[in-house]
Amino acid sequence: MKTGKYAVAGLLTLVLAHSVLAADTGLETVPVTDGIYMIAGEGGNIGVFVGEDGTFMIDDQFAPVTDNILDAVREVSGEAPRFLVNTHYHFDHTGGNENLGEGGAIIVAHDNVRKRLSVDQVSEVLGRTFEAQPDVALPVITFDEGVTFHWNGDRVDVIHVPNGHTDGDAIVHFVGANVIHTGDLVFSAGYPFLDYGAGGSIDGMIAGARKILAMTDTETRIIPGHGPVMEREKLTDYIAMLEASRDRVAALKNEGKSLEEVLKTDPLAGHHDDWSWGMMTGEFWTRLVYNSL
Ligand SMILES: [Zn+2]
Repeated sequence: MKTGKYAVAGLLTLVLAHSVLAADTGLETVPVTDGIYMIAGEGGNIGVFVGEDGTFMIDDQFAPVTDNILDAVREVSGEAPRFLVNTHYHFDHTGGNENLGEGGAIIVAHDNVRKRLSVDQVSEVLGRTFEAQPDVALPVITFDEGVTFHWNGDRVDVIHVPNGHTDGDAIVHFVGANVIHTGDLVFSAGYPFLDYGAGGSIDGMIAGARKILAMTDTETRIIPGHGPVMEREKLTDYIAMLEASRDRVAALKNEGKSLEEVLKTDPLAGHHDDWSWGMMTGEFWTRLVYNSL
């Protein structure tokens, strides 16, 4: 496995940025609404939906912390998850798949999540290769446009958004509960990561975030891929930042400016104070937007 120095430094800061609360496990369980919880830790935010039919989970962070995550899930539900939805293929959202699959969870995801997890993934932007996953870690139910669960007295729409953060993103809409898990299409922590090497694009991220906005009202609780639970107002700010990023960087690229020239002018400087965090510096975000255009 080759590891670039950028990735190592970046992942370290990402880990540091997420080292919060519960000192024993690093996990924090946040009640979102009746029967729905967010578990925050070092990877992507986990969603847990508890009720009479059983436990439904969204994303699973990393393999070494599966036992701690399952303890946290059992604390609110009394049982291991029956279903696990992956919002996309990234290692900080699917790293526990093998353990969860071995434990009997039925894994559900977009077609491209299964395709990507089935073979080695070389990430140029992270300077890392992610090895193919064993069969038990792969989604057993896959979908193209979406799938609906009728579960725990609610309707749960899992909806694909094309070419956003990756080429296999899904958002999870708890229609009755008025809760949305956005996967990594939305970050409340700061600038989002954008995996243009795996089919992601800034235009798709904007379209996805706008699609999510259209499902919300002022009462909606939003679980982002990374960062605290958020409301509609913060999502509106996030979309404004994405659109400004796209517009400014695209204008410079269309003038024929190289990436290095664009970085020198720091076109998104006005946003860094609000959105820069961990590995997601203003420069790194500008680079991702430029390369995705
Ligand atoms: Zn991701």
